[in-house]
Amino acid sequence: MHVRKLTGGFAAALALTFSLMGGQAVAAPSADADADRALAARVVTYDASGSAEFRSAVDRGAAIWNESVDAVELRPVAAGQRANIRVLADNGWPRALTTSLGNGTVYIGRQAVNEGHDTIRISAHELGHILGLPDRKPGPCSSLMSGSSAGTTCTNPYPNAAEKAEVEGNFGGAFTRTGGAVPLNVMIMN
Ligand SMILES: [Zn+2]
Repeated sequence: MHVRKLTGGFAAALALTFSLMGGQAVAAPSADADADRALAARVVTYDASGSAEFRSAVDRGAAIWNESVDAVELRPVAAGQRANIRVLADNGWPRALTTSLGNGTVYIGRQAVNEGHDTIRISAHELGHILGLPDRKPGPCSSLMSGSSAGTTCTNPYPNAAEKAEVEGNFGGAFTRTGGAVPLNVMIMN
């Protein structure tokens, strides 16, 4: 929800560095505003063009994350650009291939959809893996990362407070990981 530009954050980081190094002599009048922008969201792009009938659910899942956290923003990739996250539809179980924090491939598997699991919850859950969250199973419907263990009657697509805080920590500060325990370079099933 906070649409800010990385270039502004970079400039702000420089300004902050100068102000730390040089003190008031180099601190511009807008230093406070620049410092605020230094906390700008990291933009992670996603390409849902391969998600077939799940495209709107994927967009909604991404929007839910944007409503829920400030440190990272999921944005549809521009035409011709390589996305951080590819989202594909297939006939298997939903799963995520994590390559690094904020990068990977999500599969919206029709097998779970056909069994009655909610497509938006699936989308937000799998995107959650790319944002560094591990599965938390079994778990209640209030937990996004409890995934399918909450049953097909659970349609909650929102992360709980702990899940939001973990993602904020993963993408906070100098982009260092603080809370994520998701395995990387492996396929996380469901
Ligand atoms: Zn999962």
